[in-house]
Amino acid sequence: MVKKSSAIGESLWSGVVSQSEVEHRIAPPMEFETHCDTEAEAEAEAEVPKEPPKIHRLEESVVNRIAAGEVIQRPVSAVKELVENSLDAHSSSINVVVKDGGLKLIQVSDDGHGIRYDDLAILCERHTTSKLSTFEDLQSIKSMGFRGEALASMTYVAHVTVSTITKGQLHGYRVSYRDGVMEHEPKPCAAVKGTQIMVENLFYNMTARRKTLQNSANDFSNIEDLLKRFSIHHINVNFSLRKHGASGADLHTVGTSSRLDAIRSVYGVSVARTLIKIETSDNNPSSSVFKMNGFISDSNYVAKKITMVLFINDRLVDCTALKRAIEIVYAATLPKASKPFIYMSIVLPPEHVDVNVHPTKREVCLLNQEVIIAKIQSVVESKLRNSNEAQTFQEQIVEPSPSGNIGIIKDSGFSSLPSGSKSQKVPVHKMVRTDSLDPAGRLHHYLQAKPCGPLENNPSLTAVRSSVRQRRNQKETADLTSIQELINEIDCNCHSGLLDVVRHCSYIGMADDVLALLQHDTHLYVVNVVNLSKELMYQQVLRRFAHFNAIQLSDPAPLSELIMLALKEEDLDPECNENDDLIEKITEMNTELLKQKAEMLEEYFGIHVDVHGNLSRIPVILDQYTPDMDRVPEFVLCLGNDVDWENEKMCFQVISAALGNFYAMHPPMLPNPSGDGLQYYKKRKPLRNPEDEENTSNNIEDDVTIEDEMEHELLSEAETAWAQREWSIQHVLFPSMRLFFKPPASMATNGTFVQACETHMTLKDKLNSNNLKPDRKKKEERLECLTGRAERERGGRTRTSSAN
Ligand code: ADP
Ligand code: MG
Repeated sequence: MVKKSSAIGESLWSGVVSQSEVEHRIAPPMEFETHCDTEAEAEAEAEVPKEPPKIHRLEESVVNRIAAGEVIQRPVSAVKELVENSLDAHSSSINVVVKDGGLKLIQVSDDGHGIRYDDLAILCERHTTSKLSTFEDLQSIKSMGFRGEALASMTYVAHVTVSTITKGQLHGYRVSYRDGVMEHEPKPCAAVKGTQIMVENLFYNMTARRKTLQNSANDFSNIEDLLKRFSIHHINVNFSLRKHGASGADLHTVGTSSRLDAIRSVYGVSVARTLIKIETSDNNPSSSVFKMNGFISDSNYVAKKITMVLFINDRLVDCTALKRAIEIVYAATLPKASKPFIYMSIVLPPEHVDVNVHPTKREVCLLNQEVIIAKIQSVVESKLRNSNEAQTFQEQIVEPSPSGNIGIIKDSGFSSLPSGSKSQKVPVHKMVRTDSLDPAGRLHHYLQAKPCGPLENNPSLTAVRSSVRQRRNQKETADLTSIQELINEIDCNCHSGLLDVVRHCSYIGMADDVLALLQHDTHLYVVNVVNLSKELMYQQVLRRFAHFNAIQLSDPAPLSELIMLALKEEDLDPECNENDDLIEKITEMNTELLKQKAEMLEEYFGIHVDVHGNLSRIPVILDQYTPDMDRVPEFVLCLGNDVDWENEKMCFQVISAALGNFYAMHPPMLPNPSGDGLQYYKKRKPLRNPEDEENTSNNIEDDVTIEDEMEHELLSEAETAWAQREWSIQHVLFPSMRLFFKPPASMATNGTFVQACETHMTLKDKLNSNNLKPDRKKKEERLECLTGRAERERGGRTRTSSAN
């Protein structure tokens, strides 16, 4: 049954399965069990007792061993529990010795308050703890432990020996435990202050687990990694880690008062050098109450995977959502250093944290988690932008665009480096922060790296150009402030509920030409991809400001022709000659204006207008995506007509919005041939001139062939355009949305995101109420098919998991 369900899951996604087929395949288990095809099955059925099996109580030792396997999953989980106990005992020195990656021996010694003699008898029973009495205590718990399960669990899967001494005692006690109980009375022993716990032969009674772990070489490094993490948070505690029998320690930290010093001594100078201090807080009970401080790496830290050391209320935890949110910021701002090192400590009122959501307490739940994450995300983002602007600016400009994005149009093979020179990536560690006193110097470098067009060949023009740039650079900070303001506006206006939807949704399919269907948790959303892509492109333009790679147009297009074309298209009365003069005038003025602004358009937006007034390059806004070139005229006209060039912020905003509109995933101009649009191509056929009918039969045949050919070409062009768009929506738009998009609050109410309710009827009502053309029967059918598909998929999954 399990197999069958998952097979259905796969086929539902790989192709359309008819309703009856699905019903047949996901028929309830009973049907499968009652139809016995073979004799063997019939015999087996005869043997199955008719009575239901009897339920009985599991023996406590079995229950405990099952539970223990959950708490102590690997050697490193035992070390974590033991070290946390030592920290809870207010130790200032914690020493760990490990043999065989922890399978043979884990020994943790501390100088904490020790354990009373009277408590030793119940120390390793399940649910015995000194940290909690009532359930309500959980609300304000400050210690790391509270479940009273860790030591008990260890005694069910290993041999545990405890030696301890409390203050004022002349000697300590030692006692061994098995299955939760003492193996003998505690024996007096010599002891130094604190407690030592030895865990030997871990998983001796769980053969399978022991075997898998024996083959894994990671256990020691996992333990080392864990202790490193503890040591950079608890900086006043000395930690050491040693392999049993080794003379030296693998890790040894000494208490310090500086976090950065602690990180330096544990992770090395090369990491510490890249770190930026970060902090933020909020004290608004209606949104969030928290304090955060930490360190994040800058563009000089390059690693294969992210290191995120996160403490929430001094508890070492994972928070996937936060980690992901930070990764997103890095991917957007420092794509080349997108796997950062993060140390972060968040403190909230204890009653705002639910620590009891995971048996190993690894994950916690926070009140107002989304708000907190969004706030942290924006602090990280602005820190990165401020600290790395100069560096990324240089780096991105010198580098040629990644292959594939340049010259996509007609494979022109353009490269921003002189032909023959190889793409040379500047290693991040070799990049030098540009001297702000010599801005012309770095631009000079930039000019050298560019292909030598006629402009660059002329030394006097180059000089003029660089002096223009130099002048502009003096107000570079001002430029960036306005961009920063626009980006901040996006952040402040972000709708946290929708943010969660876009970050964690999966794409189901297109419901019609503009509406896509998404699934988030158990909800379905209908999303207007035109609005969505327009806003996403706008946001990306601001984020990539002055850092664009280029798309080279295979045929540079004269601005004047583009503007003329756009004006004519807008013109309501094409017959009127007076209009022609006007159009010419506007065209001339706009062309001149854009030629004057060419320098700025190129540098900030990657829009290149050559000396002859031809548009020859446009920016890459999302990798792997080229906009619909039919919309170039409209875009150029918008640049000429709508931009207020005097007001810096407005100017940047309008240009970014114009690019957003140009690059948005509008339905292609040719009707969609896969639906009603096919009629358009069919209808074209009888449009032949009736006079042609009188021509010779030969001519008719010729005409028919030519027309058929043209029609065929048109049809296939339309097919390609639509297929490409659908591909881009699925493979470019939605993945980028998940990574970069900050949905504005307006999208929750303007019909861009509409939550589809349980019944299709309500979904249709909602769509209609949002002024989306209600006349589309096809759309509704498709919607129904898709929602059905998603629901069946959900059903399939549930069935699969319940069958497990
Ligand atoms: P929990 O930490 O959830 O209370 P444990 O099973 O980890 O449960 O530990 C049980 C109890 O044993 C603790 O509550 C604590 O009182 C005591 N204990 C364990 N380890 C130490 C230690 N290293 N020093 C002092 N007391 C300890
Ligand atoms: Mg504990």
